[in-house]
Formats: sequence, structure tokens, C-alpha cells
Amino acid sequence: YPVESIRNFSIIAHVDHGKSTLADRLLEITGTISKTDRNKQVLDKLQVERERGITVKAQSASLFYNHEGINYLLNLIDTPGHVDFSYEVSRSLSACQGVILVVDANEGIQAQTVANFYLAFEAQLSIIPVINKIDLKNADPERVEKQIEKLFDIPTDECIRISAKQGTNVEKVLQKVIEKIPPPQCNTADPLKALVFDSTFDHYRGVVANIALFGGEIAKGHKIVSAHTKKRYEVHEVGILTPDEQPTHKLYAGQVGYLIAGMKEVAEAQIGDTLFLYKQPVEPLPGFKSAKPMVFAGMYPIDQTEYNNLKSALERLTLNDSSVTVHRDSSLALGAGWRLGFLGLLHMEVFNQRLEQEYNMSVILTAPTVPYKAVLSSAKLIKEYGKDQITIINPAQFPDKLSVSEYLEPTVLGTIVTPHEYIGKIITLCQDRRAVQKDMLYIDENRVMLKYLFPLNEIVVDFYDALKSLSSGYASFDYEDAGYQSADLIKMDILLNGNPVEELATIIHNDKARAAGKLLCERLKETIPRQLFEIAIQAAIGKKIIARETLKAYRKNVVAKCYGGDITRRMKLLKRQAEGKRLMRKIGNVEVPRDAFIRVLKRE
Ligand code: GDP
Ligand code: MG
Repeated sequence: YPVESIRNFSIIAHVDHGKSTLADRLLEITGTISKTDRNKQVLDKLQVERERGITVKAQSASLFYNHEGINYLLNLIDTPGHVDFSYEVSRSLSACQGVILVVDANEGIQAQTVANFYLAFEAQLSIIPVINKIDLKNADPERVEKQIEKLFDIPTDECIRISAKQGTNVEKVLQKVIEKIPPPQCNTADPLKALVFDSTFDHYRGVVANIALFGGEIAKGHKIVSAHTKKRYEVHEVGILTPDEQPTHKLYAGQVGYLIAGMKEVAEAQIGDTLFLYKQPVEPLPGFKSAKPMVFAGMYPIDQTEYNNLKSALERLTLNDSSVTVHRDSSLALGAGWRLGFLGLLHMEVFNQRLEQEYNMSVILTAPTVPYKAVLSSAKLIKEYGKDQITIINPAQFPDKLSVSEYLEPTVLGTIVTPHEYIGKIITLCQDRRAVQKDMLYIDENRVMLKYLFPLNEIVVDFYDALKSLSSGYASFDYEDAGYQSADLIKMDILLNGNPVEELATIIHNDKARAAGKLLCERLKETIPRQLFEIAIQAAIGKKIIARETLKAYRKNVVAKCYGGDITRRMKLLKRQAEGKRLMRKIGNVEVPRDAFIRVLKRE
């Protein structure tokens, strides 16, 4: 395939607007997959992705398409569809020259549509606007076209109206991809220049790197070098994704495909790295910022004897997800474990779910925290850390106010798109979350886009759920990193009969501590089962108690009374109780169901 007949593109969309369905249709039309229902959403490979209907990891596919007598090679690069993974969107886009921007004809422009549009626009990609689901009864493509014109300055007649589900006009989209998206600008005669834009780990073959060739060619036997690590490799295999790996003789400039070269861990195939031929060094491609974890939590085995099993499961899982950071950690109450960093709360849940589903591991996860910073004033601490500013990812390491001149918290710029009838409630919600309004714009007569600067910790756990519920599901939300700001922070402990619950220690804004402490105590009271003695549930800042609830004791021993005589029933009950205990955690003399903490934090 000459470079002129290659197109590299992505589909971007707000979640549920039909990206995966459109990708499936494109794969069918081009004969890449057969038309059976079994092939629904071929690009969403992980079990969690199918269950949750979100794409976690980008997958790519090469399509072959004949248009007006010319054979084209179209490389479709899939992108994840959730704010937690927006970093992956931008890295997928770096391998493209254009995007298909899909907007639901009923829902119109949503927060992620805006965020994704700007990622593509800033990368100077050609944008093909597509209005999907025109088969729906409530579809209003005209209105959506006007929104697109108003917000993105794209003339209404450039939008293609389609139904990805029924296949209507999908062929037109392919033709537009060929006409409007430029071929990659590169030359096979130049030295090899390959961008690593994704990588996965395969137990048998090691790292499989997804690459886009910006120059030269690559084949089995070539000796290559990583610009990032300077390590040398010999290429074992190259090929294209259809979307399964299909080995080819060579890959040429302009193509997208995969490479296997004896790399043993994903870290060796760093996303954004440039590969070149040994003895033919090139200027590396700009690369990208590495994924920045926004949410940290402690992870511990329920039972310390499971430590090694959990360790190897974590190692294997992180081989495939380099956006998770892992540091060893230990705690008095929970034993040896790790502190993990995630891109967001959904990312954390997905990771946890994969541990359970793919590795059969159940773990204790502590309350999520964002990466706070402290500017130290104590000479002793500065000497200890070797620097005067530290990042705090664990409440247990929160430095005392006396040794700190300033605490800092991470912020994000949030975009909310909502029908206008919910504006009042949403503004109240945002103010309640200490957010500052930056912009407010009518997209059409009854749709508004709001921009707010949020402290990250105010949105990490449940902002999205709160927004959804007060807008009956109609408001959407996306956010981007916006740096740090000064904040009045303190550490709050939760005590059960005087013993701290390490999972629930949090770093929190001073103004919010009292209310949050009260709420946590109330929730714990509802969640912890009554026991044979009274339990004091308290929130404390240092030695000061700021909230308290009391859980009354059981009156009598029900089991002994009812089942005393019947041995088999009694045994059965005791056995069930023993199993239940495995899922319990003892804090002092109080037994707490393991999942109680997550339930308490999620404010269900
Ligand atoms: P994604 O989250 O953007 O990948 O969206 P999906 O492709 O998973 O689609 C979300 C939902 O919308 C699914 O239930 C699809 O069946 C449905 N859907 C997608 N395209 C169409 C369409 O053209 N018409 C209708 N009626 N439903 C569609
Ligand atoms: Mg999808």
C-alpha cells in the first residue's frame, strides 16, 4: 500500500453514543469480520468492558476498502470512552491524522464530546462529524447539527446522519474518511521511525507493542533501539491487527501494526517511545506526558498468608496496565500491602474487578485519596525527605500542621453539559463542592455548558453519581488536570471503641471535617452489625472527637436458644458463620464486614 492510500483515524464519542457499534459496522462493511451477532463490539475485549459497556484499553484494527477502483488501507484506532481514561484518548490520537466525532441524535453534545473534540482539534486532526441513531423516534439531527456549528464552528451541512445500528449511511462515513482525512506524511525511504502508542503483555510472547510508522520500514530480523531506554532488540515478528494479530512480512511508513521484539515488561515499551534502527538514530517523536495517577488507595490481602499470591496477581495485571502505579506499603492494622495509584475511581473499580475475575483475588481497599502536597517548614522533616515539598498519597503519612507552611490540593477543570432546567441544582452542587465557576454558555435554547474549577477530592468519589441523580441522568461531566492550589487540610480518623480504622482515615478540608465525620459515623452505625457489646463510633481530629454515634449491643444469644438441641443445624450455622468471618475484619474487638468501608464511602 503506497502511503497515499493509507488513512489512520479514530472514533471519538461521549459514552454510549455508538462508537463501538459504528466500529463494528466499519469492520463488517470492509469484510474484516463476518456479520454475526457473536461479533458484537469486537474491539471491547476485556470481560469488564463487555459488562460495563465501557472501553478500558484501546484496540486497533486495519480495514481494507476499495473505493473508485483504488484499494485503501484504513487503520482504525479505538479509544476508551470514559473521563478516567482520557489520557489514553490523547495517546491514541497521536497515531492518527483524523477522527470521526460521533454524537447521539437524541442526546446531542455531551461533556465528553466537548473534551474529545478539543483533544482532536488541538492535535490539528481532520474532524468528521457524524450524527448517530437517526433511527430513534426522538432523534433530532437538525438540533444537534446546530449545536455542533455553534460550539465547534463546523458548518451544519458537513455532518453525516447515520444509524450505526441499522447501517444507514455508514458507507458514506468511509468515503468521507478517504476524502477528508489526509494520508500520513512520511516516506518508506527514510530511516525507521516508529511511535509506540500502546502495549500489551502476552504470557507466551512477552510485550506486544502497537506501533505507528512515521518513516522507513520494519521486518523480522531488524535490529532496533528504543529512544527512551536505549536498549537494543531484534524484531521477532511484525504484523497488522484485524483486530486479531496477523503477521506480515513487513510494515511500511504510514502503517499501523504490532511488533514483538523480546521485550519482557510493558515498561520497556513505554507509550510514546520512538523505535529506530540500530546505527540509524533519528530525532525521537515528541512522545506524551505519562499517565498521572489521580486517585490512590491502599491494597492489602484479607489474610496475610495470601500476600504472595496477591503480589504475583498484581505483577501480572500491571504488566497489562502500565497506568497503575504500585508502591509497597505496610500498616499496623492491615499488615504488608501496597499503595496503588489509579487514573480515577472507575479505573480503580475496574482494576479491582479484574483482580477478582481474572485472578480470583479478594482484597481490602482503603478509602481513596488524591495526591496532596505539603510545603515543609520543619528543618528536621526537610532533612528527612531531602526536599521541602512532598506529595502525600497516604493519610498515614500526613505531616502535622506545625511542620508545614502550606498544604496544596490538586484541582481539575470540569465541563458539565446539562438541560437548562437543572442549572440551579447543579450550581448549588458545585458550590457545595468548593468549586469556582469559570464559564457558562448556552449551546442551544435549552442546553447549557458550564465550566468549574474543582478541588479533585470533591469529585473523586461520588460527584458524578450526584450530578446524574439530580439531573435525572441528563447532565454529563468530564474533566482535565488543572494544577495545584493552597488548601486548609487536616487528617480525620474514625475510631471504633477507641481503635482507629485505618481504611477510613482521610485527609479532608477543614470546613468539611465535621459534617463528613458525622455522616461517616451515621453510615457506619447502619452498616456494622450489632455485637454482644456496645460500640462507640467516633470521628476525631488528633485527640479531638468531632462526631459520635453509639451502636447498641445485642440483648441475648439467639443461636444458643433456638438451635441448642439440633446438632446438624447448629454445625451448619457455625460453618456458615466461619465463612462469613473470612469476610470480616477485626478492629480491636469489633467485627466489621470487609465491604462495609467501601459501602460507607460510596454513600449508596
Ligand atoms: P459507545 O459507548 O460509544 O461505544 O456506544 P455503543 O456502540 O456501545 O452503543 C451504546 C448503545 O447505543 C448500545 O445499546 C447500542 O446498541 C446503541 N446504538 C448504537 N448505535 C445506534 C443506532 O444507530 N441506533 C440505535 N437505535 N441505537 C444505537
Ligand atoms: Mg464502546
